[in-house]
Amino acid sequence: MIALPTRAFAYEPLPGRVLFGAGSRKQLPEEADRAGVRRLLVLSTPEQRDTAATVAAPLGDRVAGTFDRATMHVPIEVAHAAREEAARTGADGFLAIGGGSTVGLAKAVALVSPLPILAVPTTYAGSEMTPIFGITENGRKTTGRDPRVLPRIVIYDPELTLTLPAALGAASGLNAIAHAVEALYAPDASPIVSLMAEESIRAFAAALPRVVAAPDDLAARSEALYGAWLAGSVLGSVGMGLHHKLCHTLGGTFDLPHAQTHAVILPHAISYNAPFAASALAGAARALGVASSSEVSAALFDLSRALGAPASLAAIGMPRDGLDRAADLACATPYPNPRPLVRDEIRELLQRAFDGTRPD
Ligand code: NAD
Repeated sequence: MIALPTRAFAYEPLPGRVLFGAGSRKQLPEEADRAGVRRLLVLSTPEQRDTAATVAAPLGDRVAGTFDRATMHVPIEVAHAAREEAARTGADGFLAIGGGSTVGLAKAVALVSPLPILAVPTTYAGSEMTPIFGITENGRKTTGRDPRVLPRIVIYDPELTLTLPAALGAASGLNAIAHAVEALYAPDASPIVSLMAEESIRAFAAALPRVVAAPDDLAARSEALYGAWLAGSVLGSVGMGLHHKLCHTLGGTFDLPHAQTHAVILPHAISYNAPFAASALAGAARALGVASSSEVSAALFDLSRALGAPASLAAIGMPRDGLDRAADLACATPYPNPRPLVRDEIRELLQRAFDGTRPD
């Protein structure tokens, strides 16, 4: 007879409406009505200004203004400028069209002007499903959680991801897989979160190689974006561990690129945690098609190599003489993680990530 688990968990679903499907962006006017917004401030990066204008065009005079200066990690000066633009145009809501940087800017504005956010994500970062915000001031990024910044409506249209370059798509997908893998062993994990996390990893493992091989494969783009929705959802629901802490430290202190840092660190962080999270990582093993949790880190490394993502910290600009400092910072404040943090072992982990060594 198979032993049945004795379950105990807490689960608190987040509010929000999600619309998913090719062409779903065309329903923006109805969705704006549903949210009760008449004067939207459209946000984008400079690179996606034209995309944002095209996507927002059917809204007609419901567009109160545009602000196209979103940039990585939400510098406080940019947040101030966007807040001023929202006040100047009398905006009653924000429409963020883009990746995590653009959604992050909408959140930084909504934090002080609590108006609804409509998000149209174009990467796999997942910020659109979370109440997590981040703002950078004097080179330091502060993050927090606030229900006011959780987007009210999210429209996932895979057609908008067709222009995402394959290299960025691969790194962004591995960034999202990291949310899902760490959700499996989060102390506040629950059955729903684990189901979503496993399905996210499965969807990405199937879709990303096809996205890289044939960037115009809409079915593959759709499956990857579906994985991103799931990964963002679990990121919004549970706390993250060692992997996210390392990436936050490396990104913040050494200014490494966000998604690429996640892509490099993930196999090594999971290799460190796997012996202490064997049963939780069984879901990741199933999703990746390997026999056991102990094979998950190597499978993630191989997936990353197959996708052509950066292999090492050295390749993305990490200074070799920063590894000691990174290890100190990652161990400085305690946080939940399946395996206790041992400074010298974290230093070794970082060395392997720096060199791009395949985990056993
Ligand atoms: P990004 O938003 O910075 O986008 C990277 C570049 O790709 C930009 O130039 C952007 O305009 C371009 N781009 C985006 N989508 C495109 C598309 N479909 N076609 C062509 N170009 C496209 O990158 P990201 O990885 O999505 O976001 C990273 C940021 O998001 C980081 O600051 C990170 O901290 C944050 N983030 C926050 C959360 C959260 O919950 N708060 C979650 C994940 C990431």
